[in-house]
Amino acid sequence: MSSAPAITSKMIPVARPYIGSEEEQATIDALRSGWITQGPRVAEFETRFAKYVGSSHAVALSSCTTALYLALVASGIGPGDEVICPSLSFIATANAITYTGATPIFADIDPDTYNLDPASVEMLISPRTRAILAVHQIGLPADLDALSAIAERYSLVLIEDAACAIGSEYHDERIGRPRGSMACFSFHPRKILTTGEGGMITTNDGELADKLRRLRQHAMSLSDVARHSATRIATETYDEIGFNFRMTDIQAAIGMVQLERLGILLERRRYLAARYDQALEDMPWLQRPHVPEHCLHNYQSYMVRLRSSAPARDALMQGMLEKGISTRRAVMAIHRERPYLENESGKHLPHTDRVADTGIILPLFHQMSEADQDYVIETLHTFTI
Ligand SMILES: *Cc1c(COP(=O)(O)O)cnc(C)c1O
Repeated sequence: MSSAPAITSKMIPVARPYIGSEEEQATIDALRSGWITQGPRVAEFETRFAKYVGSSHAVALSSCTTALYLALVASGIGPGDEVICPSLSFIATANAITYTGATPIFADIDPDTYNLDPASVEMLISPRTRAILAVHQIGLPADLDALSAIAERYSLVLIEDAACAIGSEYHDERIGRPRGSMACFSFHPRKILTTGEGGMITTNDGELADKLRRLRQHAMSLSDVARHSATRIATETYDEIGFNFRMTDIQAAIGMVQLERLGILLERRRYLAARYDQALEDMPWLQRPHVPEHCLHNYQSYMVRLRSSAPARDALMQGMLEKGISTRRAVMAIHRERPYLENESGKHLPHTDRVADTGIILPLFHQMSEADQDYVIETLHTFTI
């Protein structure tokens, strides 16, 4: 007979957003202000966000998925074009490319960092390649030096999928400055800074920022704020087909409080990650995260890999679950999902396949106590083979 789960009343989740009373108050203030959708709070959040990451401009959007799509559209990418991206990513990375009519071409990853392997990217460049969409994997900066050199050599647009990378640093600069033409962030609750749903594009190109601002709002020639504050009647025009990808002022109000908290959130994550690093050092069947010297990780997720001597992943995850600990499988491999099964570039991605098959994401969230973490660590040790 298998023993009963040790803890049934308590469940340690894999992730949990951190929202405090200040976010609640900011929401109420926004609601009472009379301006609910994109307005002054969105503009202020953009200014503060740009200042935080060190970019000239920030454009708030409804999600990172719409941000990625709009970044590609604003770069002129469309049917017949190819965009190189990793398969090891959340499916939105490839979907954003597919929405434009372009084809995602999947490059393989570096098995240590889980980030795009620049050599694999370069091998896939064809006359149709227009852009590289580089993901900062679960927050760890991609090899931007090598990727931007390739982009420059082949005249490609470099866009950063920085969905998970708020607060991460590359050569002592925050992700989002950006190194490519644009970086796209997510504020989904699974990320470190959340507004419920939301996204942001950062860029140093003022014309591009203007274009993104127009396109997110039906390509309207005048903003709501400009019309509202006009002393003479003002009539807008719509000179192209735009979208409704607006963030609301309610979300921006939450975002500004979260941005204030971000330093503390990052510090706690790095502290807990370092505790995992140390406590898991003596487990030969487990590979801990590798952080290149010039990178500062934000540990949006703490992912380990099972070596060949490890217990089977599903058995381990089930065993952990029975002890009240949630884990998740590795970052997904997009080429294995139905819409991308026919994509030729997905047929030879050995490192991606290996990581997707052997990765496990361990619980890590702001409110996680040291005692909770010790329990996760102790439980992992009981699976020693
Ligand atoms: C979460 C995520 C997205 C999508 O972000 P949303 O804001 O939920 O649209 C895109 N890319 C990556 C790498 C992500 O982790």
